Amino acid sequence: MKGQEKHKDTLVVHEGYEDTMHHGSLAVPLYQTSTFSFDTAVQGENRFAGMEEGNIYSRLGNPTVRVLEDRMTALENGESTLAFGSGMAAVSSVLVHLTKAGDHILCSRGIYGCTFGLLGIMQRKYGISHDLIKMESEEDIEPFVKPETVCIYVETPINPTMELVNLHAVVKVAKRHGIRVVVDNTFTSPYLQNPIDIGADFVVHSATKYINGHGDVIAGLLVGNDKEEMESIRLTIQKDFGGIMSPFDAWLLLRGLKTLSVRMERHTANAEKLIRYLKGQKLVGEVYYPFDPDNPQYDIAKRQMRAGGGLISFTVKGGKKGAQLFMDHLALIKIAVSLGDAETLIQHPATMTHSSVPEEERLHMGISDSLLRLSVGLEHEDDLIQDMESAFMKLEQQLDKIGE
Ligand SMILES: *Cc1c(COP(=O)(O)O)cnc(C)c1O
Repeated sequence: MKGQEKHKDTLVVHEGYEDTMHHGSLAVPLYQTSTFSFDTAVQGENRFAGMEEGNIYSRLGNPTVRVLEDRMTALENGESTLAFGSGMAAVSSVLVHLTKAGDHILCSRGIYGCTFGLLGIMQRKYGISHDLIKMESEEDIEPFVKPETVCIYVETPINPTMELVNLHAVVKVAKRHGIRVVVDNTFTSPYLQNPIDIGADFVVHSATKYINGHGDVIAGLLVGNDKEEMESIRLTIQKDFGGIMSPFDAWLLLRGLKTLSVRMERHTANAEKLIRYLKGQKLVGEVYYPFDPDNPQYDIAKRQMRAGGGLISFTVKGGKKGAQLFMDHLALIKIAVSLGDAETLIQHPATMTHSSVPEEERLHMGISDSLLRLSVGLEHEDDLIQDMESAFMKLEQQLDKIGE
């Protein structure tokens, strides 16, 4: 069954698994084992020599994990996938694979905090430099490509401002210079955006988020468009650094992934209703959402995404105090970082996910003290709006009192 032939809704349920090979078990069996026995000594020799397919030891491959990897390959239209113990293990593995001392990486203006931390380590220890730049057009990117640039690493939409990177422009510049493209696709999931179709070489996911969707696993995935290269990463960086995914986490992810399409539809539908509500709220300033027709980047969104997904950012009146009071008045919506769960989550980037970014840089990235990020969950829209309405009413009374 080749990925492209079936719809994503079907792939998330079936791809990569043949129940007849597993006693007819409808659910993918959990191979909770560290090692695999060989029938004979020669079979062991042949498996180590790569002359015979088969399992050896779970750090080198596990049947439960393999089903998840194959399913992801089909969903991202790649050639091969490697599963890791966290999103950061996937990010660090692909960046270590692509770089050597003295190289340069070109990054989108905003990247995940720990990816930013990793780039700092690479710079200090190995002299691998990077630039963080706006990437709306080829003209934005071209002047920053250096002879030592080996890859362009981007996130889109960018957390938490929802600014988009123009993936078609990135790929065009990269192809012109023979450099590789890595896209962190965590925010959209493979249901809404497929960078490999546009020409990216690698896609990384924090599977902790939408892929799992249930807030109970930390995991990462790396999808590539070159099978041989991915196999070499499996047998070097993944094997020797050892940041693999456990079979149990893969099993939970397979379970979560089955509902990816229905979840993403609902996250998106809820988000669309919430942006309409937020835009009519007098205590709200800006509302940021990629698929908002008023968004100046709406054309880019339509070219590379199927829908807007479940993340919204917005500003509230009253600065940091107003933002914090509003969050404290919410009852149904939980104050938490992370995203992509069934529960609607709200966080304050300036003091939470981006608190380690120096203030000047943070403001330059568009992250003011009054900005809030909402990961819209699967609850009924009316209950979410009711929760916000009541929090806004309480905030309004308080702002009146303090004369804001
Ligand atoms: C959460 C996240 C990561 C890191 O993933 P972990 O699973 O927490 O290691 C990387 N990129 C993005 C965009 C994320 O949201």
